[in-house]
Amino acid sequence: MAPEKFANPPQMPPVFNYTVEGIESGIDDIVATLRKTIDDVVASTTPETATFDNTLKPVLDVENKTLGENFRICFLQNVHPDPAVREASLKAEGKIRELEIELRMRDDIFQRVKAVYDKNQASPTLETESAIILGKEYKQYVNKGLLIPPGPERDQFKKSQLELSRLCLECANNHNNEVGGAWFTPEQLDGIPKADIDVDALEKGTGENEGKVKVDFKYTTVTPLLRYAKNEATRRDYFIAEANRNNENIPLFQTIIELRDETARQAGYKDHADLVISSKMAKDSEKIKAFLADIRTRVGSGGQAEIAVLRELKKQDYAERGLEFDGEIYAWDTGYYTRILKQKDYSLDENEVSEYFPMWKTFAGMLEIFEKILGLEFVELDDAAKARLSPTGNAKDIVWHEEVVAMSVWNDEASGGDFIGYLLLDLHPRPNKYGHNANFNLGPGFLKEDGTRMYPTTSLVCNFSRPSQGRPALLKHAEAVTLFHELGHGIHDLVAQTKYAYTHGTNVMYDFVEAPSQMLENWCWTPDVLQSLSSHWETGDKISTELINKLMKTKSLNEMMATLFQVLIGTFDLRVHSPESHEAVKKMNCGLLWNQLRAEISGLKGPEDVGRGMEWGNKYATIGHFIGGYDAGYYGYLYSKVFSTDMFYTAFKANPMDGEVGRRYRKLVLERGGSMDENVMLRDFLGRDPNPESFYKDLGLA
Ligand SMILES: [Zn+2]
Repeated sequence: MAPEKFANPPQMPPVFNYTVEGIESGIDDIVATLRKTIDDVVASTTPETATFDNTLKPVLDVENKTLGENFRICFLQNVHPDPAVREASLKAEGKIRELEIELRMRDDIFQRVKAVYDKNQASPTLETESAIILGKEYKQYVNKGLLIPPGPERDQFKKSQLELSRLCLECANNHNNEVGGAWFTPEQLDGIPKADIDVDALEKGTGENEGKVKVDFKYTTVTPLLRYAKNEATRRDYFIAEANRNNENIPLFQTIIELRDETARQAGYKDHADLVISSKMAKDSEKIKAFLADIRTRVGSGGQAEIAVLRELKKQDYAERGLEFDGEIYAWDTGYYTRILKQKDYSLDENEVSEYFPMWKTFAGMLEIFEKILGLEFVELDDAAKARLSPTGNAKDIVWHEEVVAMSVWNDEASGGDFIGYLLLDLHPRPNKYGHNANFNLGPGFLKEDGTRMYPTTSLVCNFSRPSQGRPALLKHAEAVTLFHELGHGIHDLVAQTKYAYTHGTNVMYDFVEAPSQMLENWCWTPDVLQSLSSHWETGDKISTELINKLMKTKSLNEMMATLFQVLIGTFDLRVHSPESHEAVKKMNCGLLWNQLRAEISGLKGPEDVGRGMEWGNKYATIGHFIGGYDAGYYGYLYSKVFSTDMFYTAFKANPMDGEVGRRYRKLVLERGGSMDENVMLRDFLGRDPNPESFYKDLGLA
């Protein structure tokens, strides 16, 4: 039982008892309110009289009131059991996106925002959070071409923007609806465990595919096939086929990068990478190019050493099987021989590890860690508490599915014992549920007009295996890391103390947002912490030191190769988004560029080395990030890793359970959300500018 003082949150949780009609009218109200607010601002001000308080604040105040409802409505498409509700939610999101485009292209409101921006540039008077918002807003309009004088050029720009969003949507649809595959005989698929790919259950071919089965390109298929298929020709052919699965996106992608380049130049930037990165934490795209080149130089020889180990394994394997070996390891071999290496040299059985990490017990242990280092208290709501706190009096209404676990979150007594917000957990897969693991904000926090706080609601939506065969749900080590990572985003969302919903929680720069969660992953790689989290599902025993040591050894297994792959994606991303001239982007052959960069950066032989030429595939067209909002932003994963390792090594490594450091971190980084420059936050916390030393040290390179 929760202590009495944590039984009565001062704010009720949000409800999820939406109907299709409720969603439609809810979103229409939000759209109408936002549009009217902008109209009112325009009617009651001129560029001369515009100030932050009469131009931006009214919109921010309305956003404070509507953003939670907006988020919840758009969230339902990912989780709701009723298809009609999911459909309505998807449509609602479409309406919000259309409104955003419409409002961002309005010259009347931009002239007022620009006037406020110019005034504050000339003599800065705004406090930090407002100045940050003003800067971001100004930049959003500029990126939509509003500095181009009204006339034919501006009209053309607008047309290009609409075309761009249409093309990106079409590419994304092609991704989601892709149902291709490659055909193999069951013999060619020898070696793949039935539990990973059940060959008997696959679609059987007719005609030219008589005697073969269809292997699709879902990631749950790609990984086991490349990891287990014994036949090298199968892995090679599948590797090439998979890199051609989204070829219908080739012409679309070409048009996208041309339009991005054209519009970025029209909007006053050097190129699209400059447009994107100039408003991120990194600010300078040249700096990022140098950053990726530096990693590549430092990691390159380590990557070669990892390849050499796999090559030796392949040699032995071919000798044992009496096959002729050409002395090379190829891109389609790494998954297979890494798996063999793990079993042979590391003798680690992931399933054995998972027996020590029953999901809910491990989760409770993770919450205890947050309680200790950040000064929080988590209280699970039982059915009676749910009914008592539900605004409708119905316990079911504060969740979207009966499996969802609800918690209230508080400051611990030493930190004042006040309420923080709600955490909702939906951790197992269901048909038609979002298929990955993520944190969704379902109600941002902010300061209300009466000076009290609106408390946030945040959720984790994951897909961990259900209990089976008399066992509770068990987490593999990688899944425990994922859960801790997502929980990290959730905590960032919960503890933020910003004035506006606009800057709330994880609303930080894209190239910083992963840092707090990446940092927490280190806890799951700390032997003491892992041991304390563990509890065998049957015996309650702690995991043995021996098993932990084996696990620790796998942390750096082929890490250089993995890092080089990240460098490859990041480098390609910047190359296509920063051509030397507009003529150059028109002549760009993206498939060729990817294949050349892949060969150079990974150092692995590929299809071009077995007579398939340099244009054997279009892997880039299968990567959703370039069209899904991470364009010229993929580098962010590696970039925030620099900050996360710097913070961990500098502040936490010596004692990850240090509550004093944890509370300092909460105050100087997490609570600030996106309300100030992330570089300043880091400087405040680290006591100096961040640097990549720890990042390289962690890779064993310093
Ligand atoms: Zn994340």
